[in-house]
Amino acid sequence: MLDRPAHIDDETPDTFTGNRALDQEEPLLFEIGRTDATGVDVEEPPQFAARLGGMERKDQIGLPGLSEPEAMRHYVRLSRKNCSIDAGLYPLGSCTMKHNPRANEKLARLEGLADLHPLQPISSVQGALELMETLAHWLLTLTNMQAIALSPKAGAHGELCGMMAIKSAVAARGEGATRNVVLIPQSAHGTNPATAALLGFSVRVVPGADDGTVRAAAVKEALGPDVAALMLTNPNTCGLFEREIIEIADAVHEAGAYFYCDGANFNAIAGVARPGDFGVDAMHINLHKTFSTPHGGGGPGAGPVVLSERLAPFAPVPFLRRNGEALELVEHAEGTQSFGRMTAFHGQMGMFVRALAYLLAHGGDGVAQASKDAVLSANYVRASLRDVMSQPFGDRLCMHEVLFDDAWLKGTGVSTLDFAKAMIDEGYHPMTIYFPLVAHGAMLIEPTESESKASLDLFIATLRDLAKRAKEGDAKRFTQAPRFAPRRRVDETAAARKPVLRWSAESPSLRGA
Ligand SMILES: *Cc1c(COP(=O)(O)O)cnc(C)c1O
Repeated sequence: MLDRPAHIDDETPDTFTGNRALDQEEPLLFEIGRTDATGVDVEEPPQFAARLGGMERKDQIGLPGLSEPEAMRHYVRLSRKNCSIDAGLYPLGSCTMKHNPRANEKLARLEGLADLHPLQPISSVQGALELMETLAHWLLTLTNMQAIALSPKAGAHGELCGMMAIKSAVAARGEGATRNVVLIPQSAHGTNPATAALLGFSVRVVPGADDGTVRAAAVKEALGPDVAALMLTNPNTCGLFEREIIEIADAVHEAGAYFYCDGANFNAIAGVARPGDFGVDAMHINLHKTFSTPHGGGGPGAGPVVLSERLAPFAPVPFLRRNGEALELVEHAEGTQSFGRMTAFHGQMGMFVRALAYLLAHGGDGVAQASKDAVLSANYVRASLRDVMSQPFGDRLCMHEVLFDDAWLKGTGVSTLDFAKAMIDEGYHPMTIYFPLVAHGAMLIEPTESESKASLDLFIATLRDLAKRAKEGDAKRFTQAPRFAPRRRVDETAAARKPVLRWSAESPSLRGA
């Protein structure tokens, strides 16, 4: 008789294996594999003389070996644990988890695009460069900006790129030593102050107004000859359009500073409003948010940065240039004001293909329609939940995401975190929680335009049912959630602060977490 598998502790309920039908337990490869077995038969090599100068391995490599079906099942089971937009509504505010159209995938897999190598001779990749040029043209048109850096590989990387251009521009004016402050509103995404700090700026916080927006008066108050830039998200992370944006941009420019716009929320306004028209000097565009390329575990990000005329000379290399008919990549910064290079090569080509496929499939009018539908979806959710959940800045129209706080949970014994965990049991990835920091116990819901009305209605009905149960005193349902997930509540703080990145036989086990 076999004992229960070792990774099943007494808390795992009910079944001998710990499996729950198709939801199967999956230990680490190292825990199920045997180092003395492999999935392939390799013949012993004949005697040979090593030519590695004594660097050759003398002991066993220690990798777990499994048969082919065991190895395959391991990865298939793991893949089924992936919470993804392909599996369900993923209302993660500020992240724009929209459908990744399969047409994009099909084009990205075309041989001529998928098999490119970044070191191929330029003459052999003219089509790829033309694709990049076309994408650049779309992004510049949608934003009304002058120049673009395609190479940054994520939103945060794009922030770094845009702020490096700003830092270079400030230095070129001889003010590098004196302009060393960046203004950032309270509601900002954490990457904004992190970017500023990484570049040696100090951060001055701009307080938000009671309605969740930033007032021009507050920006003017914070401006001074020491300010290099304002980093502002618009629409902001409360899901609200900054109404005084033009006055804010003018004040920033009058003070000799630059306006960095965090463009992560571009999905609310793409095709409808152009950041260049409201005075932006630099903005990153998350292709993996607004332009439907895969996100998170689904694929690498891409964060092209658009720049105003004032910052264009400082754009990083490489950039595209027409030389007669041919396209060339300008690779060297010498003799220009370019601040240098963000990455070894030219950016995430596969994401460029997907984003351009999305843009061409939609057309300019389709992009605008998608933005309007995203705003409509968020307002539909808002209007359908406002009588049961509370909004921190009053009941008003939002952009593409709707912000609730936890005032409505007062006295129920249920926290924002508990509520989010109960959503997991219902099969939903939770919305963004505890961000932005300006709302107490924030819940930021972004449904995107790609959800059908039926899908939104089920989501709304689920949240209404949960809200009712919380208010009726069924706190246990929440504090014990998730009950049906493969893992319950893990210590996220410890995981972030003391990550265990390498398995060893002594590694603490995840079992029972
Ligand atoms: C997602 C996001 C970022 C960072 O983008 P990444 O691609 O995740 O690096 C920055 N700011 C805001 C407001 C965001 O939502």
